[in-house]
Amino acid sequence: MVRYVYDFAEGGRDLAGLLGGKGANLAEMTRLGLPVPPGFTVTTDACRAFLTTGAEPDGLIREVSDHLTTLEEAAGRRLGQPDDPLLLSVRSGARFSMPGMMETILDVGLNDESVLGLAKVSGNERFAWDSYRRLVQMFGSTVMGVDGSLFEGVLDDLKRARGAASDLDLTAEDLAGLVEAYRNLVRQETGEYFPQSPAEQLRRAVLAVFESWNGERARIYRHREHIPDDLGTAVNVQTMVFGNLGADSGSGVAFTRDPSTGRPGLYGDYLANAQGEDVVAGIRNTVPLTALAELDPVSYEQLRSHMSTLETHYRDLCDIEFTIERGRLWMLQTRVGKRTAEAAFAIATELADEGLITPDEGLARVSGEGLARLMFPRFDTSAVGEALAHGLPASPGAAVGAAVFDSAEAVRRSAAGEKVVLVRQETTPDDLPGMIAAQAVLTSRGGKTSHAAVVARGMGRVCVCGAEEITVDTGARRFTVGTTVVEEGTVVSVDGSEGAVYLGAAPLVDSAVMRYFETGERSDALVGAVAGVMERADGARRLEVRANADTPEDAARARRFGAQGVGLCRTEHMFLGERRKLVEAMILARDETERERALGALLPLQRQDFGGILEAMDGLPVTIRLIDPPLHEFLPDHTELAVRIAAVEARGERPDPHDTDLLGAVSRMHEENPMLGLRGVRLGLVVPGLVAMQVRAIAEAVVERTRAGGRPKAEIMVPLVGAVEELRIERAEVERVLAEVSQESGVPVRLPVGTMIELPRAALTAGRIAEEAEFFSFGTNDLTQTTWGFSRDDVEAEFFSAYLDKGIFATSPFESLDRDGVGRLVRIAVDEGRATRPDLKIGVCGEHGGDPESVHFFHAAGLDYVSCSPFRVPVARLEAGRAAL
Ligand code: PEP
Ligand code: MG
Repeated sequence: MVRYVYDFAEGGRDLAGLLGGKGANLAEMTRLGLPVPPGFTVTTDACRAFLTTGAEPDGLIREVSDHLTTLEEAAGRRLGQPDDPLLLSVRSGARFSMPGMMETILDVGLNDESVLGLAKVSGNERFAWDSYRRLVQMFGSTVMGVDGSLFEGVLDDLKRARGAASDLDLTAEDLAGLVEAYRNLVRQETGEYFPQSPAEQLRRAVLAVFESWNGERARIYRHREHIPDDLGTAVNVQTMVFGNLGADSGSGVAFTRDPSTGRPGLYGDYLANAQGEDVVAGIRNTVPLTALAELDPVSYEQLRSHMSTLETHYRDLCDIEFTIERGRLWMLQTRVGKRTAEAAFAIATELADEGLITPDEGLARVSGEGLARLMFPRFDTSAVGEALAHGLPASPGAAVGAAVFDSAEAVRRSAAGEKVVLVRQETTPDDLPGMIAAQAVLTSRGGKTSHAAVVARGMGRVCVCGAEEITVDTGARRFTVGTTVVEEGTVVSVDGSEGAVYLGAAPLVDSAVMRYFETGERSDALVGAVAGVMERADGARRLEVRANADTPEDAARARRFGAQGVGLCRTEHMFLGERRKLVEAMILARDETERERALGALLPLQRQDFGGILEAMDGLPVTIRLIDPPLHEFLPDHTELAVRIAAVEARGERPDPHDTDLLGAVSRMHEENPMLGLRGVRLGLVVPGLVAMQVRAIAEAVVERTRAGGRPKAEIMVPLVGAVEELRIERAEVERVLAEVSQESGVPVRLPVGTMIELPRAALTAGRIAEEAEFFSFGTNDLTQTTWGFSRDDVEAEFFSAYLDKGIFATSPFESLDRDGVGRLVRIAVDEGRATRPDLKIGVCGEHGGDPESVHFFHAAGLDYVSCSPFRVPVARLEAGRAAL
């Protein structure tokens, strides 16, 4: 028999899949003996069953009612009891936190009778009516589907009529009238009465929370955060406690450490005489948590002690929500808190130093993406001048963009390629698309735990919030600071690390972490933490990390960043610029002599290129790939050339014979699908002189470096092989040239020859190919292209966004390896290649080599190394270490 409801006292943190994160943690706190308002959790199983069938699963209502009875017995009062009502909150809580993306209904149990009872027992009539109007509003919009802005409209009308500046200026009588108006609105909009039965309120609230799993903003958020669509949410039904009962009540959010920097010490925001929602919404400005020590020292001390219990128990940064009801502290939520990349490194290091976690656990808690963020530049504070305004540094980093004032404009401009900064008074979950589109978010209200701050931190967006000097006028599409008016489209710079905003584009400087990788300089504690974690990762990892580098400068930088060799040197990049003419001459050669002359001119240049890279990577392997792209890529564009010639002819002049020759060659070589055409090994087989020249250049560079006392370790790699026969022929040519150079120079040049695996056929016949290959390197860019049949140059803009929206994949397969399809081919090739040649060295050099998720896959698939761009080398080292834990 499936169970759908668990009392808080029955669950625990290991049940997060079933009870959702919030439910599991409420259960954990209950078990730890912390003061949690009692309640129960309806499971994600129930949600999934409801969403699939559209009906409540059998037994759910009975179970909810049984648990409610237990709750009522313990409380000594019934839900909605007329003289002293038990009231409930009904909140969503999925496996992964989705802040503000689903629905919450508070004060369930109030009706025309129990509101009077609440007024009497609380001794606060105004509070009772305010709670009731909140219920009608939340229930009306969330459960009954009334447009939320209609409630706002009624409220605004009333405030205007009363001359009230804020809700707080409305009297109990006003609020009672408001309830009446709200109920009429509900009736008018839905044809239904607001339900007076507390049991019905509860039942419908639970189902509405289930339904909110499929709401638009929840879906957008999940896709952005790669949370699966089929998890469903749990629902937490909990006894209400009230932070809005007067000055001795209030609500707050707290962290056991600073989530921006990781610095130890209690940290958070508090708002007296307020419900939790008011704190998170950022509608009123909060005070720092330390102020609570003065306002209510007893609760503050209790809070400190509970938080220390939680941090020790969870062995991590915890964030909590709490409410104080008439001097009594209640813990409403806890979880392992979200944090910035900087804080993640600092906390992992500190907790390991304190002995609360092991260094490996510390390593598991940081991420390559976080490290990449720390390598971003920051603003040059010595050159930025006066800040336009200051706010709270809510999510670090530096961003420059045009100010925009609503989510739709942010999305529109960013789709057109413009960088934007979303400026709002405060953000709501509806601003999510704009926050995703923007470089940074700037708000004039709200603390570091406001919606804007929490969401921006989660997605790595720069954010400054609560910049009170700013007055945002969304209607007029501008903001003002004193006398400065900033119209929409004006470029501003937002410093999320310092909490500052500048007019114009501020100059950027490298990050200290980047400097550390460049120079080894440990300038501050953060760099020290990063260095320590990197050492741990290097100690743990099995995968080697190499770099894709085509120049000595890139190779040298990659080596400073910790690369253990070059995994891919794309030689065609050496044929660009000035040298293009030489390639052109080779293509246009009318006979052997002309061709040899052209190749002869390229030879010393290539030798020098390879010499430089081998020197920069002395002692480490350098995998040089023979030319890959089709030769017409080095010729001018067909249309341009034809137009040029036609224009000359139209003037009655004779076109340049060189141009006509070129046009002939371009036409001859034209391919409809050049990516599937005469490239890679095919080119080598058809134009052998070219490969011989490249191999000679490599071999002579090796000879030169050896004579100079170096330890060159070149490897020759053949691209786009689909059949062992291709490789056999190409390899014979390679060996022939190597033997020639060895003989001429007297220096034996014996270089490993391997191949890229970047066609499905290569993967499927890897056992045969390994007969001729001393190493494999997966070219996952081409392998993804040819496995899916997606043109890597065209698809991204065309239809990937539709595919992402429809959930066909969560990330572009060109970014993160498609494990099921491309990954399967990788595994087949690894197995079959090693079956033929047990010591076969295997790596990857497609873009996936620097993608954290993919690195974990390559580790599991048994590769020897990943190769990625120099700047991703630290990320790959870190992730390779994490993969090995
Ligand atoms: C690949 O295809 O993954 C690869 C590394 O080669 P290129 O990107 O140069 O085609
Ligand atoms: Mg390729």
